[in-house]
Order: sequence, then C-alpha cells, then structure tokens
Amino acid sequence: MRNIKLLQPAELDEAVALLAAANEEAKIIAGGTALVIMLRNRLIAPATLISLGRLQELRSIRHEPGTGLRIGALTTVRETEMSPVVREHNPMLAQAFGKVGNVRVRHAATVGGNLSEADYASDPPCALVALRARVKARSARGEREIPLTDLFKNFYETALASDEILTELIVPDPAPGSRATYLKFISRSSEDRPCVGMAVVLESESDGTCKNLRLVAGAVAEIPQEIAAAEALAHGKRLTDDLITEIAEAYAASIEPLSDLRGSAWYRKQIIAVLARRALKQALADS
Ligand SMILES: Cc1cc2nc3c(=O)[nH]c(=O)nc-3n(C[C@H](O)[C@H](O)[C@H](O)COP(=O)(O)OP(=O)(O)OC[C@H]3O[C@@H](n4cnc5c(N)ncnc54)[C@H](O)[C@@H]3O)c2cc1C
Repeated sequence: MRNIKLLQPAELDEAVALLAAANEEAKIIAGGTALVIMLRNRLIAPATLISLGRLQELRSIRHEPGTGLRIGALTTVRETEMSPVVREHNPMLAQAFGKVGNVRVRHAATVGGNLSEADYASDPPCALVALRARVKARSARGEREIPLTDLFKNFYETALASDEILTELIVPDPAPGSRATYLKFISRSSEDRPCVGMAVVLESESDGTCKNLRLVAGAVAEIPQEIAAAEALAHGKRLTDDLITEIAEAYAASIEPLSDLRGSAWYRKQIIAVLARRALKQALADS
C-alpha cells in the first residue's frame, strides 16, 4: 500500500477547503469500515485521506418541529439506532439502522458513510427513500440539499460531487396515522448484508382506505427500487389480503433483480413478493 497523507481538520469549513484543494486526489474517511476494505483490496489509491473524525459539529441528533429528525453525517449507525429521539419520532428509522451488520460495525460506521458508500446491498438507503428523507452536502461552492430519491445513481455512485461532503440527514416526520416498517431478508450469516430489504410507509384515510403507499426494495438492483404502478394499486382502497397479494406480485413482476452470492435473480424475485406481502401485513397489524 502506498504512503497516504492523513489530514484531520477540526472544522467543516477547513475540511471542505482541503477537499477542494486536493483536486480529486483525496478521499474522505469517516468510520473507515468500507474505505479501509477498499484500500486493502487496492480498489482505490488516494494520495490523501481527509478524516472527518474531529468534526464534532457533524455528530448530533435532534428533532426540529416542522422539519423532522436532523442527524449529523458523523453520527454512528449505532447512535442512530439507539437514540431515544429517533425511536420516539421515527421508530422505523431506528429499526433499519439496527439491521446493519453487527454491533461492532454499527459502532464505527457512520450515517454519512453508509449513504456515501452507496453499496447496493445496504439497509438504510431503501428505508430512507421510503421515508422521503434528504441529505445536505457542502463544498467550497456552497451547500445544497439532495432528496434521497436522487442521491443514488448507480452501483457505488451517488449524486455527490468529488468535492462535496455529506453533512446531514434530514428525515421528515411521518404523516399522522401513518405506519412504517423495514424488513431484511438474509440468505447467509446472521450478520450479512441484505439479500433483499423491504421498506413500507403506509398512510391511511380516517375510513381505513389507503391514502398513500410507498414500498421500496433494497439490495435487488443498483439502487433502491420503488414501483409507482404497484403502489398505485392501493390508492383509495382497503388493503385486504387479496389486494396485498396483488400489490406484492405486481411489485415483484416489475423488478428485474440482480444475481450475486446472496441469491439469484429468480430467488430474489420470490423473496421480493414474500417480503412485500409481509411488510404490508406487518404495517397494517401495527395500527
Ligand atoms: C462486516 C460488515 C458488515 C456490514 N453489513 C452491513 C449491512 O448489513 N447493512 C448495511 O447497510 N451496511 C453494512 N455494512 C456497510 C457499513 O454500513 C458501511 O461500511 C458504513 O456505513 C460506512 O460508513 P463509514 O463511516 O465507515 O464510512 P467510510 O468507510 O469511512 O467511508 C465510506 C465511503 O463514503 C465516503 N464518505 C464517508 N463519509 C462521507 C461524507 N460525510 N461525505 C461524503 N463522503 C463520505 C468515503 O470517502 C468512502 O468512499 C457492513 C460493513 C462491514 C464492514
């Protein structure tokens, strides 16, 4: 491994300036759980690493009425999972972060790192797409917000520019009366990444009919998959067992899953239908 210069800025402004000056020769390191593997496998060979570890300003969880949860990018996955604020305002979010790998990984891995890595086989991204979350990104050119629906572009590829740092995750409060759940199906060891992840957010009218449904599958393609036509089947209707099966099957039929060590495309299609059905039933049962 070549010698790598390590920079440890103490403020975000400094980190952003260092990244701009490095002219694409530097990589950011947060918890290092993904980056160190990439270095060891010689997938990347940056001249410089810019550590975010000293940026305390990126390590916070708060709830802002009208905005929702605001989670700093350097907050660990474990801090997010265990946070009483997150559990109170968005239990499904705590549930999804709690499904990442194992406790050791969750203690080191950061929220910003998980989203920036953009590994297709991750848990939080599909939950956050279903929750219509967004992130803030900072560069020397300024700050912008990116909806999660636009963040993931391809395998390991996001809308972040090479001089941008993901600084914050913003998760709007769920609509009153809505229910949400995240299910993870693992095909190998209990600590593995998902073979299929399924997030559901279900908003109902006062008469029990469906106002809005968001059903998002993760780990089945390069980016989280949401099928609007399948979601639309629920609008204005009561979710009976037959309708749930129809939605789940329409959903599975519309996705062309990938094959990898965790499961073939055929196998994933069966699992998508099962998980979609289970997630919908679980969300309804939580009412
Ligand atoms: C054994 C193991 C099991 C795992 N299991 C799961 C699982 O089940 N589910 C799951 O979802 N994930 C899983 N992961 C992935 C894990 O969640 C990620 O590795 C982790 O979240 C990355 O965060 P980090 O802080 O360690 O990022 P780092 O490794 O420090 O960085 C990852 C990438 O993101 C970039 N980056 C980091 N922070 C920022 C930022 N703020 N702005 C811009 N770019 C940034 C880095 O340059 C790098 O390219 C697993 C990882 C391991 C090692």
